[in-house]
Amino acid sequence: MAELNRIAVYTSGGDAPGMNACVRAVVRTAVANDLDVVGVRRGYEGMIEGDFVEMDGRSVSNIVQLGGTILKSARSDRFRTSEGRMQAAENLRKAGVDALVGVGGDGTFRGAVLFHEEHGFPIIGCPGTIDNDLFGTDETIGYDTALNTAIENIDRIRDTADAHDRLFLIEVMGRDAGFIALNCAIGGGAEMVLIPETIANLDDIKDRVLTLMLAQTRSSIVVVAEGEELGGAAALESAFRADPSFDSIDLRVCILGHIQRGGAPSARDRVLASRMGVGAIEALIEGHTNVMVGVQNGEVRLTTMRSVWSRKKNINFELLKLTQLLS
Ligand code: ATP
Repeated sequence: MAELNRIAVYTSGGDAPGMNACVRAVVRTAVANDLDVVGVRRGYEGMIEGDFVEMDGRSVSNIVQLGGTILKSARSDRFRTSEGRMQAAENLRKAGVDALVGVGGDGTFRGAVLFHEEHGFPIIGCPGTIDNDLFGTDETIGYDTALNTAIENIDRIRDTADAHDRLFLIEVMGRDAGFIALNCAIGGGAEMVLIPETIANLDDIKDRVLTLMLAQTRSSIVVVAEGEELGGAAALESAFRADPSFDSIDLRVCILGHIQRGGAPSARDRVLASRMGVGAIEALIEGHTNVMVGVQNGEVRLTTMRSVWSRKKNINFELLKLTQLLS
């Protein structure tokens, strides 16, 4: 294996609470193993621009509790071009970097594998995305915090929904996966949940909502994942309003949006991110590359980055039955 003296760490794609705890663990574990660390600001975009900062144990003091990412994150179209990746490689070589740790989602890992194939840098990934949609780990960094934020907000909305006997459509994040929606529907006591993994039938949904609202004359919460088949909460609202059967229903929409990304990471996310950051440096020292550090059944495990995006992590359909049973 090539010499390993100096590593670079970056955060990329959508930010997720707990990324800082992961960066802290990467930096401190590297330092404990006599490795130098360079932080890359703004993910692949910063790599192309040579936006680097020297890091040591002290530069990650007091960040374990912070949301967002002190290294900042970005989406980089230039990194999708071979010229962009060439420039990034030149900058890293000039900075004396031998290997990389990237914290991000599947797009970040796709870029990483391509970069490794073209320029040879060993790369380890840590799964940082609130959507929890990555194969190879039971949970991703940021998911638990986002889920708790969503539930906290559903609780608040339920108070006002109940006071006025309203129907609320609450949209939560999840373009391709319903992990947040499904779990916050159970935890928030929602009457119904719509997720991307299921086939949506508008007439069936309307019937179920009308039964809930008219038969029981009470408030109802429907949790809608943003990537749900019918187009999310706003599209559903239009469909409901166009139907005269809904005329007597006091219908409101709340899109939680970026609130779910922010805030201090939960204890669970801090611990998960710390374990993954340590695992990433250990994996580099052991000579691994193109793998993601995950935690499966409580154990740190490595999974090839390729399988992270080529294999799908399924939701637990038993939980879907649970929302119906408990509503
Ligand atoms: P999130 O799940 O939060 O969206 P992500 O890591 O999947 O996180 P992306 O925007 O998909 O976020 O990817 C991050 C960056 O990785 C992109 O902006 C781009 O620079 C790089 N990237 C993604 N896919 C590729 C690819 N196929 N080839 C080269 N680079 C890529």
